[in-house]
Amino acid sequence: METNGAAAANSPRENHKRKDTIDWTEYFMAMAFLAAKRSKDPSTQVGACIVNEDKRVVGLGYNGFPTGCNDDEFPWSKTSSDPLETKYLYVCHAEVNAILNKNSADVKNCTMYVALFPCNECAKIIIQSAIREVVYMSDKHAHKEHTIAAKRMFDAAGVKYTKYKPRHSRILIDFTEIDWDSLNQLPATPVKH
Ligand SMILES: [Zn+2]
Repeated sequence: METNGAAAANSPRENHKRKDTIDWTEYFMAMAFLAAKRSKDPSTQVGACIVNEDKRVVGLGYNGFPTGCNDDEFPWSKTSSDPLETKYLYVCHAEVNAILNKNSADVKNCTMYVALFPCNECAKIIIQSAIREVVYMSDKHAHKEHTIAAKRMFDAAGVKYTKYKPRHSRILIDFTEIDWDSLNQLPATPVKH
């Protein structure tokens, strides 16, 4: 039985680490999905997370219009008789934003975690920025030219790509179920008499 808080104060189990944590890959993939929640795109929300060789996150991004291009003024449509009124000519993909948002000098030898397999345009930038591996969850556009071209370039450039199946089917953050009474990173404050 799981115990927590004061009830577990004398439990020997409190000396042991939790075992049901999320692993590194789930952690970074979940960050990519959290970033995707920032996307204003009504149809496709994609996030990307870049991690260096020391497992430090060095970049996060999601799909959106460039800075200064107002979300309320630029079109989010997927189809229109006028191509200038579709999103495709304007939107920056999550992968590119994650690279450009990097908080390190470069992303050489890093791994990118992303929901969807990158398109050919992102693949070029991933290769040129020296990212070494792409971990993705869905390859649903595998039959399309932009994915086939991306894989051709990754293969030629030696960028590894790995499909990821998470161990947990869901990673939930529910602010309402946090036990605030037991949440403390500091030792108990001594009581003055
Ligand atoms: Zn792309």
